[in-house]
Amino acid sequence: MRYIEPHGHMVSRITDDYEAMVLAGCQAVCEPAFWAGYDRSGPEGFYDYFCQLTDYEPKRAAKFGMPHFTWLCINPKESEDTKLAEEVIALIPQFLDRPNVLGIGEIGLNKNTRNELKILEQHIDLAARHDQLILVHTPHLEDKHKGTRLILDAIKADARIQPGRVIIDHVEEHTIAMVLDAGFWAGITLYPESKTTPARAIDMYEVYGGQRVWLNSACDWGRSDPLAVPKTAIEMRRRGHSDETIDQLVFQNPIRFLGQNPRFTIR
Ligand SMILES: [Zn+2]
Repeated sequence: MRYIEPHGHMVSRITDDYEAMVLAGCQAVCEPAFWAGYDRSGPEGFYDYFCQLTDYEPKRAAKFGMPHFTWLCINPKESEDTKLAEEVIALIPQFLDRPNVLGIGEIGLNKNTRNELKILEQHIDLAARHDQLILVHTPHLEDKHKGTRLILDAIKADARIQPGRVIIDHVEEHTIAMVLDAGFWAGITLYPESKTTPARAIDMYEVYGGQRVWLNSACDWGRSDPLAVPKTAIEMRRRGHSDETIDQLVFQNPIRFLGQNPRFTIR
């Protein structure tokens, strides 16, 4: 099997995880910027984090033969402090030329507040000005449907952004149709306690098809599984899906989306 992990927070994982992913057939990992498990006290914390994502972590991954890519932003959970968020957004352009940077993400909403929306719009503007791909985090549980709607409206309001260059991640049964219908890509996140299980993910794939869909584990410092994508591939095989179909979903689809940035190349 070969696959891409398009959403893994590797700075929170141990080296055994890199080893297991490589053994399972992972050909590349992509790491969106996110919350650190605590609120950072100032923009310097983000500057250091962006250095970690663009310098140290790709070197750590390379020790296991794993290509490492990243996305940059201030995550929605910390964007309630708009002054801090604006200072962090101002730091990002100097990192966009680093060789493993794929775009702006994971931006989006957390609690669907006015301040979060304002910072989301600034990130969309940043992506448009620098011609970057966008990776979007959608809110959890009861905030997800409304939040996804607000995010899609905010992106569609900016005519410079092509929907095919945006992936809306963490979709579930009640949000995937609105994402695909609007022309965006949809990310299905396999997570033990929220988001979706492998069985639900495959159900969605069987209902909506895999034209603009990818699977990811979003593995981080919480209870999560860096091998969730290959485990789901095994479950697909058990349900009778062909090796070609599985390869398209877990390997070729991420390449099709991420390859829109010429920096994303796989050997
Ligand atoms: Zn994430």
